[in-house]
Amino acid sequence: MTPSEFRLSSRAQSMKASEIRELLKLVGKPSMISFAGGIPDPGLFNVGLFQDAWRHAFGGPSIAREALQYSTTEGYAPLRQWLADHMRKLGVPATAENILITSGSQQGLDLVGKLLLDKASKVITARPTYLGALQAFSALEPQFVPLEAPQPTGPDAARLIYLVPDFANPTGQTMSRSARQNALDQAKVLNAVIVEDAAYSSLRYDGEDLPAIAALDAAEAGSIDATRTLYCGTFSKTLSPGLRIGWICGPATLIRKLAMLKQGADLHTASFNQMVMHQVAEMGFDSQLERIRSVYRVRRDAMLAALDHHAPPGLRWKKPEGGMFIWLELPDHIDAYVLLEQAIRQDIAFVPGGAFFPDGAGRNTMRLSFSLSDEAQIEVGIFKLCSLIGQQAMAKAVNVY
Ligand code: PMP
Repeated sequence: MTPSEFRLSSRAQSMKASEIRELLKLVGKPSMISFAGGIPDPGLFNVGLFQDAWRHAFGGPSIAREALQYSTTEGYAPLRQWLADHMRKLGVPATAENILITSGSQQGLDLVGKLLLDKASKVITARPTYLGALQAFSALEPQFVPLEAPQPTGPDAARLIYLVPDFANPTGQTMSRSARQNALDQAKVLNAVIVEDAAYSSLRYDGEDLPAIAALDAAEAGSIDATRTLYCGTFSKTLSPGLRIGWICGPATLIRKLAMLKQGADLHTASFNQMVMHQVAEMGFDSQLERIRSVYRVRRDAMLAALDHHAPPGLRWKKPEGGMFIWLELPDHIDAYVLLEQAIRQDIAFVPGGAFFPDGAGRNTMRLSFSLSDEAQIEVGIFKLCSLIGQQAMAKAVNVY
């Protein structure tokens, strides 16, 4: 029997393998300068602290048995408490009851989708936005509506507003305080839930700290349990993505529903990983943040400087105040997918921006990540990439005459 003969669900039938992921499989080559992955530099992981935490989790028979046993769906109690304290520092008055540990914030996105969406339900997102959120929500066959579009109210209103307010993937841009307030006001009018994806929020390199939407919401509502924001956090961009530890912070009623949904998905996030992550967070979260911010700031500045030097006319970008990404807009006639094939032949990789639009727009855009390459690689990579873009722009000019 071939796969085409099985009677798959309509959602599985409509899923396509990403052509970009296929191309980017080549990125593992050692000679490649990759601006593609939005991933932390493994050279910055605090390996020693993780080794100590692993030894601690297996330190005595009773703690080792706890690490090896099933545990509760809501998560390892000391980690929930650590995260409630962390959220309070961000102005969100959480207790452990307001925290659900998830297997990465990606699982958080999957669960909030299942909590809120039926087939054809409306989801408001920025355009472009995080590909993984589009994938998680798409499995539920909703209708994506751009943030700027006029929104119907009543039974047909959007149920979920998905936002990445800080240093967004893919654009690197940050929502102003008034844009956050407007989103909250709009959610109230629509009676929608805001999903605040805070994957990069700790990675600010300059500019002033802005309040989380969850904090604005709690300040207005007077209590976290009266809010409508589900904050999806993660240790992936700060401590380690490999242990797959994220969290959702929100009103306890929704957290309890989300825990029921998580039960059906994986019973609970790995006990051992939660215990290790708790220990590492307790011992070294602040120092790790300080270290990675200083390294990524230098890399961001190196990429901005290289673009200033080498970019041909017609390229546009903005300085991100944090995160891992610079978003490039190319002249309209340049196709970033075609450019990627040429770039890969020259050992440079990036992600074509079209991947981040729900409707196939944005073919003349690209996402550059500065987290994985050192300053010398960034200079060489941006020089080569800008030369390629310049050649494409020139080819068009020749065609005209
Ligand atoms: N949200 C955003 C905006 C991301 O960029 C990512 C990872 N690329 C995630 C969520 C998911 O991260 P994780 O599951 O590792 O927490």
